[in-house]
Amino acid sequence: MTRRSYVYLDHHATTPVDPRVLDEMLPYFSDVYGNAASRDHRFGAEALESVQRARRLISHSIGSRVEEIVFTSGATEANNLALKGVVRNQGSQCHVVTSAVEHSAVLDCLEAAAADGTDVTRLPVDSYGMVRPEDVADAIRPNTCLVSIIAANNEVGTIQPIREIGEITRSNGVLFHTDATQAIGHLKLDVRQLNVDLLSASAHKFYGPKGIGFLYVSKRQPWVRLEPLLHGGGHEGGLRSGTLNVPGIVGMGSAVDLAQRLRGEEAPRLAALVSRMRVRLEEELGEFSLHGHPSKRLPNNLNLGFAGINAKALVVNLPDLAFSTGSACTSAKAHPSHVLRAMGLPAERVKEAVRFGLGRSTTEEQIDYTVERLTEVVKRLRSVRAS
Ligand code: PMP
Repeated sequence: MTRRSYVYLDHHATTPVDPRVLDEMLPYFSDVYGNAASRDHRFGAEALESVQRARRLISHSIGSRVEEIVFTSGATEANNLALKGVVRNQGSQCHVVTSAVEHSAVLDCLEAAAADGTDVTRLPVDSYGMVRPEDVADAIRPNTCLVSIIAANNEVGTIQPIREIGEITRSNGVLFHTDATQAIGHLKLDVRQLNVDLLSASAHKFYGPKGIGFLYVSKRQPWVRLEPLLHGGGHEGGLRSGTLNVPGIVGMGSAVDLAQRLRGEEAPRLAALVSRMRVRLEEELGEFSLHGHPSKRLPNNLNLGFAGINAKALVVNLPDLAFSTGSACTSAKAHPSHVLRAMGLPAERVKEAVRFGLGRSTTEEQIDYTVERLTEVVKRLRSVRAS
């Protein structure tokens, strides 16, 4: 199989490092190799300067202050720091509100907190995977300390009403965390306008390197107090000890900046490609089920199911296409998707769900090739079933 005939449509799982980002990172492996915490010489000063530049780019992209960005190893760690950090600081009396469609890095983290005595409310969603703001308002109690709602879903792409939820949490004096891992490369998010107090992200979802992410921690009222997960040298204002990953941080800064600059043209381009794929599939194969919100969705996401066709069979029969079954983003575990189940999809439909995630390198030709191959395989599998 040549690389040319292989189409990568799994950009929710990860993205390649953009060559422009890689170019900016490379000197930091071998030339500018100082420890950003070494204050006694210019090697350290140089590294620190680059870290601070990246911090400025990242904070600028979400409308925060520079000192509100804490570097982590990715969104899993950022989510853990936000949730465990608040809960451990407040004690087990703290009640947390979340939704049924969060990533496992939030759900499992809160499950662990629940096992330690924290009261957790998991809100249901509608058939599009959308949280109802009024449900958030109803769930808030006097001891609620935190609401955590994903900004855009990693499986079905549904964009949550973050602004409305932020108004509710702010007026109730409750902290608001959002997992913006999938959203940040595609949507303009302003933490002040959205009343978000904590926000998690991972660079490899927006054409930066793997193993680096950040948590935005508001330093405005209401004051966010977090217990750190890692103790040590007191880096990152004591919230995340450990020598800073300078090449990764530089790469993440460059990637966020690039994503911001390209967003204006990239989002409509991706939406047009997704729409082309939908229309062409409908022409070729007739109706299929579309999962997630019809319009309030990430521009690069298409999650669908072909009646009677098991997702695994599609994946196995299309080795030249990289896409995933509905349950794939939680990766290491192969459970049926908790997101699709929460949306009320019957078990047979959940097994049919496949997710396509388009990206910066996706072309019209690739989409046409994908439609062609899907059509061929779906028709073949249907005829085998019928015979
Ligand atoms: N949250 C969401 C919404 C995600 O999509 C992912 C990655 N699949 C994560 C958190 C975890 O990110 P990472 O694996 O980079 O820590």
